[in-house]
Amino acid sequence: MSEKEYCNVAEIFGENVFNDSVMQARLPKKVYKKLHEVMEEGRELDLETADVVAHEMKEWAIEKGATHYTHWFQPLTGVTAEKHDSFITAPMENGKVLMSFSGKELIKGESDASSFPSGGLRATFEARGYTAWDCTSPAFVRQDAAGAVLCIPTAFCSYTGEALDQKTPLLRSMEAINEQALRLIRLFGNTTSKRVTPSVGPEQEYFLVDREKYLQRKDLIFTGRTLFGAMPPKGQEMDDHYFGSIRERIAAYMKDVNVELWKLGVSAKTQHNEAAPAQHELAPIYAPANIAVDHNQLIMETLKKVAGRHGLQCLLHEKPFAGVNGSGKHDNWSITTDDGINLLDPGKTPHENIQFLLVLTCILKAVDIHADLLREAAADVGNDHRLGANEAPPAIISVFLGEQLQDVLTQLISTGSATHSLSGQKLETGVKAIPDFMMDAADRNRTSPFAFTGNKFEFRMVGSQDSVAQPNVVLNTIVAEAFAEACDELEKAEDFDMAVHDLIKKYATNHERIVFNGDGYSEEWVEEAARRGLPNMKTMVDAIPALNTPKAVALFEKFGVFTKAELDSRVEIEYELYAKEINIEAKAMIDIATKQIIPAVIRYTTVLAKSINEVRMACDADVSAQTDILKEVSKLLAETKEALGKLEKETATAAKMKQGREQAVYYRDEVTSAMTALRTPVDKLEMLVDKSMWPMPSYGDLIFEV
Ligand code: ADP
Ligand code: MG
Repeated sequence: MSEKEYCNVAEIFGENVFNDSVMQARLPKKVYKKLHEVMEEGRELDLETADVVAHEMKEWAIEKGATHYTHWFQPLTGVTAEKHDSFITAPMENGKVLMSFSGKELIKGESDASSFPSGGLRATFEARGYTAWDCTSPAFVRQDAAGAVLCIPTAFCSYTGEALDQKTPLLRSMEAINEQALRLIRLFGNTTSKRVTPSVGPEQEYFLVDREKYLQRKDLIFTGRTLFGAMPPKGQEMDDHYFGSIRERIAAYMKDVNVELWKLGVSAKTQHNEAAPAQHELAPIYAPANIAVDHNQLIMETLKKVAGRHGLQCLLHEKPFAGVNGSGKHDNWSITTDDGINLLDPGKTPHENIQFLLVLTCILKAVDIHADLLREAAADVGNDHRLGANEAPPAIISVFLGEQLQDVLTQLISTGSATHSLSGQKLETGVKAIPDFMMDAADRNRTSPFAFTGNKFEFRMVGSQDSVAQPNVVLNTIVAEAFAEACDELEKAEDFDMAVHDLIKKYATNHERIVFNGDGYSEEWVEEAARRGLPNMKTMVDAIPALNTPKAVALFEKFGVFTKAELDSRVEIEYELYAKEINIEAKAMIDIATKQIIPAVIRYTTVLAKSINEVRMACDADVSAQTDILKEVSKLLAETKEALGKLEKETATAAKMKQGREQAVYYRDEVTSAMTALRTPVDKLEMLVDKSMWPMPSYGDLIFEV
């Protein structure tokens, strides 16, 4: 490796971000101070200040090579959207142009919103949508083959102020938890912290396959997952990929990804191979929720973009290969004050940490009451293949506490107070050269959807291609509600110590049913959860109604996170999205089966039939093997043809239905079973037909030969 290929991370980190140090260096002191006040106190930015900021931002961006700017936003499509405007003004009399960017252009953009999902919030003739600068997430310059663009993170709203994006409710929910958490810590005598912010660290899983092979798979191109494919002789049973050493081609890719991300101020930290062959993971250092959500979008974009340069294709789908582990996104979540106190830090002796116990039991209550909403927040079409499929957490929400906290909880429930905390044991390695060390007080549980991991919760249900915005909107709001209800009682209590003691015991007792420390993959848990009355929503379609139940509407309206109209619109959008995605998958299957698979199988049977005749003519050999194969293949071909006809019929019926729940249910029940019925004979055929005649690379080619 030449010297130039090494990079100095400290030097490049954040070099394309209009971050605090750039602002401090470039903005007049007064403007810098004002902007900070706006960021910290959430006040409105005046136009005069905005003009100065915009001008400096533009100058800085032009130095980085930027010719355009864009309001970068996150509509309800799951990916980011942008519309580029160049900095040029109308040509002057001398034919030259000026480069300009005003405060108004920085703060507010207007965008034809009619092509983004709005779920009836905005008729297409009222196409106006507004993007508004989220000044708490820094602007950045994105450089790539298409040039350089100044990207301004924004929220996206309709003309009448309804949220059309992921960002707006997220910011509203951060406000809600800030307010309620401050109330709570004030009760415990904290007078110094000014702000409480949810911190989020999303771990991103993904697959890498060879791009040439990818291009031969229409299913991957159109749907992001394989719709056909027989299992290779080797799967992931040897566990030799997980944390295995990273091959050079992949390592070179990861290095490039990291450099790109570091320049954008994304603190890419951990990378490793994941459980399945060709599967990997990237985790950044945690950040305030809105920044973490933006950064996760940048991570997904960068993973895809850089792959192309290495002749690779990055698959972010939750289940690119049936029968092989899928990909998720663990959403690590905690709440921290501006002066660095993590409210989820139990300390060494949690039983004495009354504030922590209240926070913890409030969270148990929130998760128990709103388990349906959390489940819904992790629902997307791809994730239906993962949740409950013995690899990802089950579709049932439960909380894992670990031995130490479970013990404290048990003490609280049985005696009303906790008197001791279990501590970590000494881990004896049995190797003299390695010193013994203290183990954590609790082990991990990989099967739990919502696990306490030392000083944070890890929500492990989220899908790999989904935005982490919605899970965090839900977490922030349900915990804000639990805090608010606790504060309502405690603020009017005469004897605070007594009241808080009683409240912790009450919450622990009433919501103990949500705690489960056992094997979440087991059949016994499904039965036990049913006995406990916990919801088990197996598919996205089952989960969607949770969004606008009277309970959800009351919750979100109370904290100004969503109006009922916004929730109703999201319900509509999700049904529509579900139907559209399954429709595309079904149509892709029909296309591939009709134009690629059936013709290939016919070619093979023709060749086989000819060869049987030729062998017969040449000699009197036994051709029963060939004949058997020909019969078997022909039988499967007939089954394929029949299943194809059924899928065509079901898809046509579904597509004609009125958009909404009924249509989504039809796609889920009728269309997906017709898809499975078509896949079965095709996968059997793949195992019989001459590999050189099969029209696409196999699972083995895709995941073992990267
Ligand atoms: P794991 O062993 O589960 O991979 P890590 O410590 O590597 O745990 O953390 C995984 C993710 O959780 C990272 O993005 C990390 O920055 C984030 N994380 C760590 N501490 C916190 C916290 N207090 N709040 C939110 N996220 C956190
Ligand atoms: Mg983890």
